[in-house]
Amino acid sequence: MIKIELIEFFKSLDRRLFLEKNQAYASMDIPLDIGYGQTISQPSLVLEMTDVLDLTSDSKVLEIGTGSGYQTVFLAKFSNHVFTIERIEALYEKAKERLNVLGYDNVSYKLGDGSLGWEEHAPFDRIIVTSSAFKIPSNLLEQLATNGKMLIPIGEEEVQKLLLVTKDSHGKINQESLGYVRFVRLLDDEGRLL
Ligand code: SAH
Repeated sequence: MIKIELIEFFKSLDRRLFLEKNQAYASMDIPLDIGYGQTISQPSLVLEMTDVLDLTSDSKVLEIGTGSGYQTVFLAKFSNHVFTIERIEALYEKAKERLNVLGYDNVSYKLGDGSLGWEEHAPFDRIIVTSSAFKIPSNLLEQLATNGKMLIPIGEEEVQKLLLVTKDSHGKINQESLGYVRFVRLLDDEGRLL
């Protein structure tokens, strides 16, 4: 069952704040265009993914694909610190400004290829990737803490499996599919599919 605090927060957060266009559709449970060929996920999926991550007030979180910053806010609210990486400068700038205005001061932003992780701050208790790839980037597996959890959509361009990847106390990796999703692609610095 989803934690009541998470549901309350979800209900209180207006998705319009994260949209420059398509604001009229903000309250609908559908993904929306945020420009630059990118999308904000449908709210119910953001809620579900946040819930599965099982955040605590001690969690150090790495997010790949800041986008609008909508998912970032859920992470910031329920964890200790969020390190978020976005490769499109305009989205990175806007999300940073938005979250600063909203008063989230436990978020660090980076412009670049998040598939490489953020070495200086590793390991991370939780990693969430909101763009899809053919395989799990090895840097992210390495930067996942023991007893850590990672959510990442893996598969072809049309459809992917949302994988919950866990690393146990011995460093052993386990993965489980939570079902099918469709995310935009994870791209490297040159814009190549990963
Ligand atoms: N979580 C976002 C959804 C953003 S869509 C939200 O709530 O709005 C996915 C984002 O991943 C896009 O903004 C895209 O530019 C970004 N992205 C794709 N490949 C990336 C990479 N290698 N590193 C960082 N960000 C990446």
